[in-house]
Amino acid sequence: MVAGGYFGRALVVDAESATASTLPLSDELLRAYLGGAGLGAWLMHRLGPPGVDPLAPEAPLAFVFSPLVGTPLTTSAKFAVVAKSPLTGLLNDALASSHFAISGKLTGHDAIVVRGACRQPSVLLVDGDRVRLLDASDLWGLPAAEAERRLRERLGRGWRSAAIGPAGERGVRYATISHDGRHAGRGGLGAVMGAKGLKAIAVHAAAKVASADPQAVLAAARDLRARSFGPATAKYRELGTLANLLAFNAISTLPTRNFQAATFAGAPQLAAEDLATMRSVTRNSCASCTIGCEHIYSYSARGGQKKLRVEYENVFALGPMCGVSDPDAVLEASARCDELGLDTISAGGTIAWAMECAERSLIDAPWLRFGDPDALMRALDEIGARQGLGDLLAQGSRRAAELVGGGSAAFAPQVKGLELPGYEPRTMQAMALGLAVNSRGADHNRSGAYEADLSGGHDRLAGGPEHVTAAIETEDRAAVMDSLILCKFLRGVFTEPFDEWAALLSAVTGWDTDGAELRQTARRIVLAKRVYNIREGWRPEDDWLPERLLSEPLAVASGRVATLTPERLRGMIDGYYAARGLDREGRPGPAGLADLQLY
Ligand code: SF4
Repeated sequence: MVAGGYFGRALVVDAESATASTLPLSDELLRAYLGGAGLGAWLMHRLGPPGVDPLAPEAPLAFVFSPLVGTPLTTSAKFAVVAKSPLTGLLNDALASSHFAISGKLTGHDAIVVRGACRQPSVLLVDGDRVRLLDASDLWGLPAAEAERRLRERLGRGWRSAAIGPAGERGVRYATISHDGRHAGRGGLGAVMGAKGLKAIAVHAAAKVASADPQAVLAAARDLRARSFGPATAKYRELGTLANLLAFNAISTLPTRNFQAATFAGAPQLAAEDLATMRSVTRNSCASCTIGCEHIYSYSARGGQKKLRVEYENVFALGPMCGVSDPDAVLEASARCDELGLDTISAGGTIAWAMECAERSLIDAPWLRFGDPDALMRALDEIGARQGLGDLLAQGSRRAAELVGGGSAAFAPQVKGLELPGYEPRTMQAMALGLAVNSRGADHNRSGAYEADLSGGHDRLAGGPEHVTAAIETEDRAAVMDSLILCKFLRGVFTEPFDEWAALLSAVTGWDTDGAELRQTARRIVLAKRVYNIREGWRPEDDWLPERLLSEPLAVASGRVATLTPERLRGMIDGYYAARGLDREGRPGPAGLADLQLY
């Protein structure tokens, strides 16, 4: 019998022939990997040919649901998109929210995996076990949101779609997949979908799923809902993630002009406090969410007054990182990324790197200067069109630096090919470790160690054993939250997170899970990702940070100098490997592998 909250099977679609088969998922396997990012990692091991080109037809692209989707638990309407990343060449998972998650799961599957490529631009329709292709030539070239709107009109009520923009169609290595204005943003999964000739995937609910103990789930949902209105989520409700901007600027953790500084003189102009007073339009939320962290602001664009959902990462990457302080310009650039289907962090990081290259005359682009809004917009447009300099920048900063040379790799703001988020590693040294060792690359959602740095519990400028413990703990928590799935912005309401998550999982599935089991699950998921990467060519030197961060000390506002030496980073990585049961090169032994249920 299948556990509550699951269907016990994945749908495996061949996009070329529009046929599908089912892959049984045992109770034991689902308990080991839960769903979302965890189950996605297992699916990539099972269905991804070793060494596959991420943009080749045979590379699988998985939409993975979770046991909590469809329950009344707040923030649970999420899904993971999982594939081998064209940006990193390693495992990538990106989460997105809303009704696609619910309808996708209610097709009767815990995951939908797409292999093969269509012969012409298409939309993949999944209605229960039935799959078919719809001609998408009239949608090709449209922004994802417009393609979704037209699909709603064409398909009618009950269908939900996730789509790519022009960047995904053209193979930009950091293209996104979007649904309802939310994005599976990092790692270029939109390019994987575009390489399959898929403009969109549309899903239609055709099944029902029940929790093992509906009354317990309802009681837990009421309790979580009440807690979601409390102080732990106040920041997200009141100002949203953009509240980070001024706070980070004050403590020298705001990456500026391609990590050449950690404070930005223009930060007050971009701050949530200012935007909320002057431009706030409304607040919004994903489906099944009681927090509502989405803050919609108005801005002046070339086509008139417009509205946009604003997040810290967008503003950091297109603002301070590129030296741009004009709020209208930053919001317009963010909107352009949405239209094109670009990950804002990778777009901003790659453009900032190119701005520094232009400054150093390493590339011939005299127009590309830090702080110039027109240059920022031109660069985004060229990337989206893959024209001019855009064809180089569409590769991401690591590949572009390899092509440009001249020592530019030292300041390419990436780990494993993924551009760094808005957390300065030299002044957040638990985060520095998390960014260096994480499987996805430089990422703040799979390693949230910045929280420990900001907590005041350790000296964030002096990485050591405490920072290792913090990085492991936050990585483990993320592994479970991303697999259950619950929104990270809910994390502060849990006082004993693993125990509380185990209680939720037990109520939904009927398993007798406890916190200790979920801690083991977290370790398994983290290790499974690492083992996949090793299979795909990860090297020990990939767990590292850009040379700039390890060779250029940073003067900080307090008067101290933040230094992250290679020796200090090496010491933390060694500590991380030892605590994770890995050898000195970061590889697992037979005992770790035996637990993974991979083959
Ligand atoms: S807190 Fe924000 S991101 Fe999380 S589910 Fe709610 S609206 Fe979505």
